[in-house]
Amino acid sequence: MNWNEFAGWGRKVADWAQDYHMTVGDRPVRAQTAPGDMLNALPSTPPEQGEGMDEIFADFEKSVMPGITHWQHPRFFAYFSSNAAAPSVLAEFLTAAIAPQCMLWQTSPAATEMETRMMDWLRQSLGLPEVFQGVIQDSASSATLAAVLTMRERALNWQGNQQGLAGQPTLRIYCSSEVHTSVDRAIWVAGIGQANLIRVPVAGDWRGMDPAALDAAITADKAAGHLPAGVILCVGGTGTGATDPIADCIAIAAKHGLYTHVDAAWAGSAMICPEFRDYWPGIEDADSIVFNPHKWLGVQFDCSAHFLKNANDLVRTLAISPEYLKTHGHDGIINYSEWSVPLGRRFRALKIWFLIRTYGLEGLRNRIRNHIAWSRQLHDKLCAEPDFESVTPPMWSLWTFRYVPEGAGDLDALNLDLVNRINDDGRIYLTQTRVDGKLVIRFQAGTFETTEGDVMMAHDVICDIARSLS
Ligand SMILES: *Cc1c(COP(=O)(O)O)cnc(C)c1O
Repeated sequence: MNWNEFAGWGRKVADWAQDYHMTVGDRPVRAQTAPGDMLNALPSTPPEQGEGMDEIFADFEKSVMPGITHWQHPRFFAYFSSNAAAPSVLAEFLTAAIAPQCMLWQTSPAATEMETRMMDWLRQSLGLPEVFQGVIQDSASSATLAAVLTMRERALNWQGNQQGLAGQPTLRIYCSSEVHTSVDRAIWVAGIGQANLIRVPVAGDWRGMDPAALDAAITADKAAGHLPAGVILCVGGTGTGATDPIADCIAIAAKHGLYTHVDAAWAGSAMICPEFRDYWPGIEDADSIVFNPHKWLGVQFDCSAHFLKNANDLVRTLAISPEYLKTHGHDGIINYSEWSVPLGRRFRALKIWFLIRTYGLEGLRNRIRNHIAWSRQLHDKLCAEPDFESVTPPMWSLWTFRYVPEGAGDLDALNLDLVNRINDDGRIYLTQTRVDGKLVIRFQAGTFETTEGDVMMAHDVICDIARSLS
């Protein structure tokens, strides 16, 4: 394909994308295809001769689109929303066209400096103090891995990378039972081992870590000759929005000299609204915080904002400077590849800039406030029905419920059946989780185009389908 044919196709793609977004609400939310459908639609061998874009595009519409679950659908209430607001999609298109590698300042100075400025815009938006610096990671999982590696190096007096972990005291890291599985994987990859990730019990409505139990666990580990290295806290856990008492837990960590990382991947976006910051009092004392603008804030995936109280600890952990990567003559500039595990980096700051300038913080806050208000309205309406119960209360826009009709036998099986039937129906999309061993259904609202009508329609869909089960 020549670049002189590109613009025509670019316009066609733009028209297609506009139409897709304006009509996505007419499609079933979750893909309704069977395993193997896409695989069987694709030839088992690659073509020897090139094909025309007409044919390729037609096949895309015919074979690919039926197998897509529509994350931008206004009635996507599963997992957490992963938004792609229009201006951020335009920025991604431009980034794809320029395709810069943003590993060093000199490999794209504008990208580095915009990343610094955008991370500071986000810092201010969340009400974090000026001491925090930031870097954009590809995912919250990567940010958490970087934080765990920092905990490890700091605890080992910066010798782990060089000497490995053999012969060292056993490192210990603490978190609640409600953290995301990305924490487990960070522990595995860092060589610390699952057995040394200590699960502190949770208590209360927010299902947050019990600070006294954290203190006791650290004290016992020290007495046993282990080496406590850090505490991972969660604000808005994936299952039910579990939130640790940040100030109390950080105070315990500080007493023992431990590094703290806060995973607010989903709920962090809501902190642009000052009224929700009561959920993380004391956050200014954390060493490391991650949230995903690519979830609720509206930025096209991928874009994970990682804030650091002392970026030097991270750079000391991850920087490698071979001669061919040195940027001679530019002392004091930032090379963001020294702040993350991968070397190559995309130009992700551009889509934050496009997004925030288009809507303004006030526009973004209004959306989040609406999602939370509508979600709570639905919670109150559904859980007032005689055969539904609220299991965990709304945390921001997330809550869980069960269908509990009188005389029902196996409630886990009944609720799993219900969620599957709802998703087969296609008007809304929900997922399940477990709370204290019980299977429950989650609801969250956070998609950019969701309206109050979309959220309230979930009430009718859930009730109709539940009551049609025999
Ligand atoms: C989504 C999520 C993650 C994982 O985010 P990635 O960016 O996909 O790695 C981690 N923690 C929480 C609480 C999440 O909601």
